[in-house]
Amino acid sequence: MAIGSAARSAKVGLKKLAWGVLALSAVASVIAPAPGQAQQAVLNLYSARHYQTDEALYRGFTEQTGIKLNRIELGDEPLLQRLKSEGANSPADVVLLVDAARLWRAQIDGLFQPVDSKLLNSRIPENLRANDGSWFGFSTRARVIVYDKARVKPQEVDTYEKLAEPVNKGRVCTRSGSHPYMLSLIGAMVERSGEAAAENWARGMVANMARPPRGGDTDQIKGVASGECGVALTNSYYFVRLMRSADPKDKEVVDKVGFIWPNQATSGTHVNISGGGVARHAPNRANAVRFLEYLASPQAQAHFANGNNEWPVVAGVEVNNPSLAALGKFKAENVPISSIGKGQIAAQRILDRVGYR
Ligand code: FE
Repeated sequence: MAIGSAARSAKVGLKKLAWGVLALSAVASVIAPAPGQAQQAVLNLYSARHYQTDEALYRGFTEQTGIKLNRIELGDEPLLQRLKSEGANSPADVVLLVDAARLWRAQIDGLFQPVDSKLLNSRIPENLRANDGSWFGFSTRARVIVYDKARVKPQEVDTYEKLAEPVNKGRVCTRSGSHPYMLSLIGAMVERSGEAAAENWARGMVANMARPPRGGDTDQIKGVASGECGVALTNSYYFVRLMRSADPKDKEVVDKVGFIWPNQATSGTHVNISGGGVARHAPNRANAVRFLEYLASPQAQAHFANGNNEWPVVAGVEVNNPSLAALGKFKAENVPISSIGKGQIAAQRILDRVGYR
């Protein structure tokens, strides 16, 4: 106990020091406990989820448990960097990341600690969590194809493989190849067809670009609508977000763009996850586990679909999202999420070799 409290006060001392240095940083102020609040149960959440609708998700946790949520939101790369540089002094309790590529990276970098929760193990399918309990998937999303209905035939772009064929020369738009969403797609391809086939594909993609990769997935959809791109890749929820938007400009975009579940006659559409785990040095471990269990609750699971247009991972959760439902059912690829994560190293090598920026 004595060692524990000594370590704790050393940690507090360090934090005070850090607080002095970072007093002007808005990010730091989120985490520092306000005077008089030291006794309130808290949870420090580091999140790379970047979806405004998540506010309601976090509010629900505090309403249910009384635990105050301090949240730091950063891009996936800066978030992992920050965790690494904070080391054992990190106040992070839970780390949420998007994409299996990032979860796997955080796992091998030792940023999580294993959790053995009966509730999580029973609710979350085995193929959507790390086998040592270091992370859990809480929602799924699909990587889909959108195309310009005015000039592209759906049968020319109904598989990932076709995007790299000569018929699509000068048509293809994607975000950066090094983004986790692309790394995972290529990682799954490596798993399915081998590194040589995936490299051929990536080379064909580079040859077919309508413009150098730039922007996020929504920018690719808009590029298709503007006519700059003939075909593009996007995560499903970005498209559904535009479908649900009240902005007439977004409606115009959706009207011009065709939607495809890729590879329905072959390997199935690439599916990925958003998920998280308990941070390696979590000061509030019990609260962290409670938060993860909350994310697997029917309420939170429904939110992933109703709020952010993803799909729940827990079976039997009732979803009320007509736009999402309107896209219909699809066949998903059958590649284990954990191997998609591992495949990203080979994927990055491929991208470097073919010059897919
Ligand atoms: Fe996203």
